[in-house]
Amino acid sequence: MILNPFEVAKKQIDIVAKEMGLDPNITKYLKRVERSLIVSIPIVMDDGRLEIFEGYRVHHSTVRGPGKGGIRFSPQVTLDEVKALATWMTWKCSLLNLPLGGAKGGICLNPKDLSKGELERLTRRYTSEILNIIGPDIDIPAPDVNTNAQVMAWMMDTYSMNKGRSIPGVVTGKPIEIGGSVGRDSATGMGLYYVLEAMCERLNIDLKSQSIVIQGFGNVGGWIARILFEKGCKILAVSDISSGIYFSEGLEINKLLEWTQKGNYLKDYNDKRYELITNEKLITTECDILIPAALENQITQNNAGNIKCKIVLEGANGPTTPEADKILFIKGIHVIPDILANAGGVCVSYFEYVQDIHAYFWDLDRINKELKKIILGAFEEVYTISKERNISLRTAAYIIAVERIAKAVELRGFFP
Ligand code: NAD
Repeated sequence: MILNPFEVAKKQIDIVAKEMGLDPNITKYLKRVERSLIVSIPIVMDDGRLEIFEGYRVHHSTVRGPGKGGIRFSPQVTLDEVKALATWMTWKCSLLNLPLGGAKGGICLNPKDLSKGELERLTRRYTSEILNIIGPDIDIPAPDVNTNAQVMAWMMDTYSMNKGRSIPGVVTGKPIEIGGSVGRDSATGMGLYYVLEAMCERLNIDLKSQSIVIQGFGNVGGWIARILFEKGCKILAVSDISSGIYFSEGLEINKLLEWTQKGNYLKDYNDKRYELITNEKLITTECDILIPAALENQITQNNAGNIKCKIVLEGANGPTTPEADKILFIKGIHVIPDILANAGGVCVSYFEYVQDIHAYFWDLDRINKELKKIILGAFEEVYTISKERNISLRTAAYIIAVERIAKAVELRGFFP
């Protein structure tokens, strides 16, 4: 059964609404997105054929500020997936108390099927199609699955050309040369690390001696793997879309990163000591810390009972379903929820936006210090509420995030 991520996102709102006794009118309102734009993107392919792709940009809530959220290129992209991701961005920005709302975008395609020229034309046409609902004070996109700094550079250029001047603040995750921020590429990984370190301290666990399993080896999975490997942790398994790869003595992450950064798949990595395993098997591999860092709905009621770890650190957005959450909570597994764990990315995106608007750039030391302060402040609040009320970290995080949004909605009222 394919789970609909937006149904999951709405179920999460119901759970927290019940826990905090939220006004039913506000609950109803938060289960809808403010606006969804569906666009057709016609592209003349290199061989002269016309292909038409479908793209989306969704604003879930701009009640606390301009929308913020990535752009995803993937064959699994649907309007409901984008709506769910936009909703989760609202909670994430609110939890960190950033003056931003929740948005997301995507195009349904497999980027590996397109040449660089086709990808550039597609990105530029998509940006033109959504031009009226993005902008530094409307909605600021960023990279997500299968998009990167180059894609952001094309978006920034297309937007700027249309407006007749350079507007770097329209997207974040740009190359540093055109207004990007130092530390943005590693930000989600750094945030995951700060939160994990704080959680281990609370549980009296020595992080360095923990064994780790990571699903996804892109920006998020790759960075957290690198950071934990450099800290001396044993990474038992990692995976990408092609396969998982396992070694009980610990993988040499630096060499695997070199391999995948050249565009290779993990399944083709040649080391006789390493065993290829499926993504499904990887999720239930015995370890201390499991880090899903690929896609949503990876931990479900079907496999949650077989998960054998102490901590699930959610690098991806929406990797655990509400049914699986219940099972993990009963098993005593600590789930550090996506809206807290992977919020380092949006936090440094916010710093990039602030730097662009002020035309004044910070150094890496300042970026990481401010990131640490903000994300650990949120961790502290979430952890305290979860202990006080004996609820999961996710429910605690949602209570904080939803309460802030609900207050803003109440103060602003329903126009007219
Ligand atoms: P990415 O494209 O850089 O990497 C995605 C990785 O997942 C790749 O290794 C890919 O091969 C793998 N993958 C894709 N489909 C898979 C499948 N069906 N099974 C197993 N592996 C699969 O993307 P990313 O930016 O690292 O994003 C990963 C997740 O983290 C997404 O949920 C995204 O929304 C979330 N996230 C990203 C950021 C960020 O700053 N990039 C911030 C917060 C959250």
